[in-house]
Amino acid sequence: MWFDSHFHGDFAEIDSQQTSPDISGFLVPAADPQHWQRVIHYATKHQQPYALGVHPWWVDAQWRDWLTSLPVGCNAIGETGLDALKGDFALQIESFKAHIELAQARDLPVIAHCVRAVPELIEVISQYPNCRGVVHAFNGNVNQARQLIEMGWYIGIGGLVTYPNNKRLREVVKQLKGEGMLLETDAPSLKPYNWPLEHNQAKALLVVADEVCDISGVTPQVLSQTLNNNLANLFNL
Ligand SMILES: [Zn+2]
Repeated sequence: MWFDSHFHGDFAEIDSQQTSPDISGFLVPAADPQHWQRVIHYATKHQQPYALGVHPWWVDAQWRDWLTSLPVGCNAIGETGLDALKGDFALQIESFKAHIELAQARDLPVIAHCVRAVPELIEVISQYPNCRGVVHAFNGNVNQARQLIEMGWYIGIGGLVTYPNNKRLREVVKQLKGEGMLLETDAPSLKPYNWPLEHNQAKALLVVADEVCDISGVTPQVLSQTLNNNLANLFNL
């Protein structure tokens, strides 16, 4: 059984059961605060965990107001983080820190997005020794993965690892063998290599799991046990 730790996907797809019995559940992070209520409604209806936050792409003049009014009851704070390719980076750092502080105040983990900013992300996290979380769609190197894991963080592995020329990430997975890792789809984004459809889907989690087993030489049983322990540690799931 595999758990999708990052699913923004097509709710109708889950409703129509176009998924798999090998997928035990999914965590739904909200990105745009305008959609918080929809995420709460959807996740609650399916009895799945959810996270609330202001995604770095949506960090604007109102992010602080949103954060102050963030509803209680979520399982994690996010999606927050840093994206060097989109948005106001200085504001994103400010917002990321505020998300971490809120997570600490509520004793919750953080879900972080990180594009072309792993060193900057690690620098911020290192200022908060007691915070915990996951860097979703991690795409850094082995040293960076180890630094995050040593700080009590996890790395989210998804479709990016299935691309044969992503040697850096494949090396990370080969060395970690599930340690400090969670699996995710990030559906409808980040579809696996050779995925036949335009959008990513929930069932792509099985492709990711297969690939991680292949690369790391670990059996599905051992990998899923390790990952379930990681989930339990981070999210109390
Ligand atoms: Zn996301």
